[in-house]
Amino acid sequence: MKSQDYMVREEKYGAHNYHPLPVVLERGEGVFVWDVDGKRYFDFLSAYSAVNQGHCHPKIINALAEQSKILTLTSRAFYNNVLGEYEEYITNYFGYEKVLPMNTGVEGDETAIKLCRKWAYQKKGIGENEAMIIVCEGNFHGRTITVISMSSDPEARNEFGPYTPGFITIPYNNIDALEKELKNPNVAGFLVEPIQGEAGVFVPDEGYLKKAFDLCKKNRVLFIADEIQTGIARTGKLLACDHEGVHPDILILGKALSGGVLPVSAVLADDDIMLTIKPGEHGSTFGGNPVAAKVAIAALEVVKEEKLAENAEKLGEIFRNEFRNIESGMIKKVRGKGLLNAVVIAPKSGKEAWDVCLAMKEYGVIAKPTHGDIIRFAPPLTITEEQLRDAMERIKKAFREFE
Ligand SMILES: *Cc1c(COP(=O)(O)O)cnc(C)c1O
Repeated sequence: MKSQDYMVREEKYGAHNYHPLPVVLERGEGVFVWDVDGKRYFDFLSAYSAVNQGHCHPKIINALAEQSKILTLTSRAFYNNVLGEYEEYITNYFGYEKVLPMNTGVEGDETAIKLCRKWAYQKKGIGENEAMIIVCEGNFHGRTITVISMSSDPEARNEFGPYTPGFITIPYNNIDALEKELKNPNVAGFLVEPIQGEAGVFVPDEGYLKKAFDLCKKNRVLFIADEIQTGIARTGKLLACDHEGVHPDILILGKALSGGVLPVSAVLADDDIMLTIKPGEHGSTFGGNPVAAKVAIAALEVVKEEKLAENAEKLGEIFRNEFRNIESGMIKKVRGKGLLNAVVIAPKSGKEAWDVCLAMKEYGVIAKPTHGDIIRFAPPLTITEEQLRDAMERIKKAFREFE
């Protein structure tokens, strides 16, 4: 079969809820993926930062293979001999008293919302069904009904109503707006991405997260960080909140928590918050299964052993410097932190971000536009300086095609 045949088949039998770049991948190793014709590409999306540790990392795959031969799923109706090991490991790793394991990222967000509401009623004394959570314009927290109810993106929302109430939307990176809404005594939480990834890698002003955190403390409101995309070394620190010394009350992780091997998400908090949810009140059949637990331990070990945060910090600087030196009328802006970066594209003679991505693909680098005019650049964090410079040369050649 040719690439075209694979694409036609997906088109024919699959729902049309994505618009993929026309490349059909069949293998991955480290920073590279290969298509069905054997052509090699640098992966500059990393499955939206799920593959921070690189494709098919041997240590993570080994954990997957070994545990899957022994025990895969017990459900939480019974104990198993692996979950506790993982719970101890991840809580120590991130500095929390408890973890609640889930699968997809959006389930992590849903869990954090439920947890925040329980805390609001039991600890803050907010009247039943009155709790409000502040969210930011341009947020992306996933695709369930409640989570799209918080969204300001018409594509994510339209014709999916009625929506879940209980959210207040404020502009991102606006401390005054937050301060004003925090005066509402029914506010229980502030849910925020430390950098808005899907929105196009919007990095807030320095000090924003710290100020927001302090204001939340002052008003007895939980600071809830969605680090599903920014966490696990992507931005040059273990967590993006670490750049400002902020330790969220509730931390949501997903994506790279499994190195892109399985859907594994987690919500972390201290006892005062986490123990407001009692047995039977929340759960998941697959959440915390032994394979996920072993895979997540391995994935987190790789981050430390291979110093991925340090590498992301260093190579991120090189990436942005190199990119700012590319002479192209199509590059309007380069922004980001660590190896989570985006380039805003100025259309030229009818050519847009999508066309740039197609050209980069020809030169062996794949990335994807978001919101029409932004290209996100997020290679696996295992990338070496030599590989990064190689990829940059290819990206430059692609931009040259439009001069
Ligand atoms: C990807 C993402 C999610 C949703 O994760 P899924 O695994 O797709 O449900 C939530 N929040 C942020 C910030 C994300 O980047």
